[in-house]
Amino acid sequence: MGTQTHGRVLIIAGSDSGGGAGIQADIKAVTALGGYAMTAITALTAQNTEGVHDVHPVPSPFLRWQIDVVVEDLGVDAIKTGMLHDADTIDCVVDLMRASGAGVPLIVDPVMVAQSGASLLDSGAVGAMVERLLPHAALLTPNLPEAEALLGRAVPDEAAMEQAARDLQAMTGGAVLLKGGHLPGNALRDVLIGPDGRTRRFQHARIHTRHTHGTGCTLASAIATGIAQGMPLDHAVARARDYLLEAIRTAPGLGAGGGPVNHCH
Ligand code: PLP
Repeated sequence: MGTQTHGRVLIIAGSDSGGGAGIQADIKAVTALGGYAMTAITALTAQNTEGVHDVHPVPSPFLRWQIDVVVEDLGVDAIKTGMLHDADTIDCVVDLMRASGAGVPLIVDPVMVAQSGASLLDSGAVGAMVERLLPHAALLTPNLPEAEALLGRAVPDEAAMEQAARDLQAMTGGAVLLKGGHLPGNALRDVLIGPDGRTRRFQHARIHTRHTHGTGCTLASAIATGIAQGMPLDHAVARARDYLLEAIRTAPGLGAGGGPVNHCH
């Protein structure tokens, strides 16, 4: 893999045919922030703003093939994972990380359930994610329901968030950004625990809209882009949050359900 920093991000995630989340959101975020997006697709979804209508997994030998040909030719500065679908898919990423050594940072967005309620990760694969994938993660970006599934306990309020983030960090090889958007209230609070254990808090007024489809994918890919470009982690997170908030504010309002955010602002 390349040793120079070019902002090349390899995205390993699922396709959203509605263009709002998944690979499509990832490519838009990486491109908008000046990076170069490459993709290894784990599963196809037939999806629109109303929900995930069907899922068609990509066989893992073909997923490995997508990864291998890209890595050996174009080089990679950061790897970002989204929808991983099942334990075989998780193991493809684990093998990639083992082969690449410690050189390429891995950003794991532990996608489990779509906002519409559809399952994007086999419930039996959460253990594989915790035991095999998270130790390779330079950054983990769970929302609260994902944090609860990974920890196996409730994170009921803001007071519990910092300890939850610390416990999650102990499962990774790096940092954790725990996103508090699922808590009620008008203030949106995220907690970042750096690899050195340092805590940074981010806060913003909630934007009241139903058009937030793909926000998790967008934020993680925006952060991955900054990391691939050589930014310090807290700068990458701050830029990504600003980018996402503007994308939510200026969402085009498409579709009858939860519509996509706007990447071209
Ligand atoms: N579809 C795919 C392929 C995804 O990767 C994701 C999120 O990561 C989603 C749907 C869910 O997006 P949301 O929860 O914002 O609806």
